[in-house]
Amino acid sequence: MDAGQSLARLKEGNARYAGGKRKEYDLPARRAELAAGQHPFVTILSCSDSRVVPEFIFDAQAGEIFVVRTAGNVAGAIDLGSLEYGCEHLHTPLLVVMGHSGCGAVKATCECKGRGGEGNIKSIVEAVAPAAGKKSFSPAESVACNVECSIENIRQKSHIVSHLEKEGRLKIMGALYSLETGRVEFI
Ligand SMILES: [Zn+2]
Repeated sequence: MDAGQSLARLKEGNARYAGGKRKEYDLPARRAELAAGQHPFVTILSCSDSRVVPEFIFDAQAGEIFVVRTAGNVAGAIDLGSLEYGCEHLHTPLLVVMGHSGCGAVKATCECKGRGGEGNIKSIVEAVAPAAGKKSFSPAESVACNVECSIENIRQKSHIVSHLEKEGRLKIMGALYSLETGRVEFI
């Protein structure tokens, strides 16, 4: 599968999900089939928000999406390693970074102007702050910018991912999920 086919599958799955027409999957049978190995068609970095579940949103089943989720869909070292695993070792042709409306991580970063967060939450705020700062700490405007900045951060900090992209073996795209409509817009 190439990146275009991978994207088409995501779009079709999202249309089914948003339209309330999810497929019925035989999970026990699929589990047995997958025990020997996985061949996901996409790697996705999305938010940990409990309402943003990639497998539901793209009406996918087990073994189809390699997922990394962090609050605010920003990637630190361990997350970058996980993304590299999906793109390089599992050969997914597409990497999607997906933000969403009403993101609490983006909102919290905007409220403290990028200078808050207790404990390790501070690291999330610091990672989201550059994007939020560019949009005058407006939560609604910062979500898309945060996706773009997160992609740029992945390119800069992951030689493996940027190399795959330069060689034309990987396409990287941003996406925005609407909590209200269930629809995903690719950017
Ligand atoms: Zn979020």
